[in-house]
Amino acid sequence: LHSSISSQTPAMAELKLSESRDLTRIERIGAHSHIRGLGLDAALEPRDVSEGMVGQVSARKAAGVILHMIKEGKIAGKAVLIAGQPGTGKTAIAMGLAKSLGQETPFAMISGSEIFSLEMSKTEALMQSFRKAIGVRIKEETEVIEGEVVEVQIDRPASSGAAAKTGKLTLKTTEMETVYDLGTKIIEALGKEKVQSGDVIAIDKVSGKITKLGRSFSRSREYDAVGAQTKFVQCPDGELQKRKEVVHCVTLHEIDVINSRTQGFLALFTGDTGEIRAEVREQIDTKVAEWREEGKAEMVPGVLFIDEVHMLDVECFSFLNRALENEMAPILVVATNRGITRIRGTNYKAAHGIPVDLLDRLLIISTRPYTKDEIRKILDIRCQEEDVEMTEEAKQLLTRVGEGTSLRYAIHLITSAALACLKRKAKLVEVQDIERVYRLFLDVQRSTQYLMEYQSQYIN
Ligand code: ATP
Repeated sequence: LHSSISSQTPAMAELKLSESRDLTRIERIGAHSHIRGLGLDAALEPRDVSEGMVGQVSARKAAGVILHMIKEGKIAGKAVLIAGQPGTGKTAIAMGLAKSLGQETPFAMISGSEIFSLEMSKTEALMQSFRKAIGVRIKEETEVIEGEVVEVQIDRPASSGAAAKTGKLTLKTTEMETVYDLGTKIIEALGKEKVQSGDVIAIDKVSGKITKLGRSFSRSREYDAVGAQTKFVQCPDGELQKRKEVVHCVTLHEIDVINSRTQGFLALFTGDTGEIRAEVREQIDTKVAEWREEGKAEMVPGVLFIDEVHMLDVECFSFLNRALENEMAPILVVATNRGITRIRGTNYKAAHGIPVDLLDRLLIISTRPYTKDEIRKILDIRCQEEDVEMTEEAKQLLTRVGEGTSLRYAIHLITSAALACLKRKAKLVEVQDIERVYRLFLDVQRSTQYLMEYQSQYIN
């Protein structure tokens, strides 16, 4: 796979890039999937509830000013520190900032303690996080054949456990009917998209990717939905083909992993990327710089969020200081809930456990605990996000739970209460479901209390 860079064939490179693009598209309901921005108006004033964001007005306002500075290109070398208690939306604000910069802006998140693993050095872990937060928008021309499917013939259809092996596709383009031999890749695409005769499809000649454009009865050009800037090219074999400009958005880390000889593409799924050799990164940086010069690529600096930043040690802090100087550096947002504490790896104490030279670069934002009303609004949004219907009484109870324990605990109860509700074959989550899961899963306070009460029975 390393060859995709060293052999420098655009076709191979594009193939690898589109694979990783598909990967980044995988969406799921995560803890912050309801956050779509900072929820600011045109004057950068926070709206009460907007883009999934609730309250935390002064922090969002400050984040808005930072957003403005980023857009004006005035943030270079600086970073942001969000200080506040657990569950007060530090991650949510960092993510909102990334989303406000554009939906394609990469957002990478790591916790200070994760850096210390046995599999890779701490600076490598930080380097990987930095590169996860740097996007590259690559424009490429590709050849696309469009036509109506006359027949699909797969010799060995995909069955449980075994992928289809060979097949043929007869495609009627504007000019003629052509039979295509199908590689495994196309067969996989056919299986997924369920292409049948009568469908109008586009085959990307480079990646072999099939896009379904519509059915043949909708013969209007409306189905031409694949990409912008289509121009027709008469090819030597008489086929009417199109050249389209396609845009891929990937992170530098994804390009690194795909091109690292030892790991490869699947490592992106498992996260088991290991250390990436410096030469691979150098080659990639040179290649990307070439693409930029040729106007084929643009950099998209994203947001790197480091939670529990006080867990980093002096070496990590000096790495961060240096990395911030790089012209491609992402916006660094760090968070902590510590006040004055020891800087790890030293005997010195400092504000937030951060050395003075880094503190000096930080713009500090603080978050505050939520009010009852704000907790209720966030819970409403999360119920919607998770498609959970809940009675008013149950929501009131859940809000009280949130006030008494933590917002995150209350959010977690939504999913489990919905399961409890499903178990009794009902659709609407009621007070009894909340009570049930509240008894089942302890919050931190009750768990500590339990341990203290039964301490004598544990081995000390
Ligand atoms: P920790 O310090 O423990 O990492 P945190 O301060 O980063 O916590 P989050 O993880 O951002 O807190 O917040 C907990 C949950 O509440 C998340 O699901 C988050 O998306 C949601 N949330 C927090 N603040 C807001 C807000 N202002 N609007 C909407 N959702 C929020």
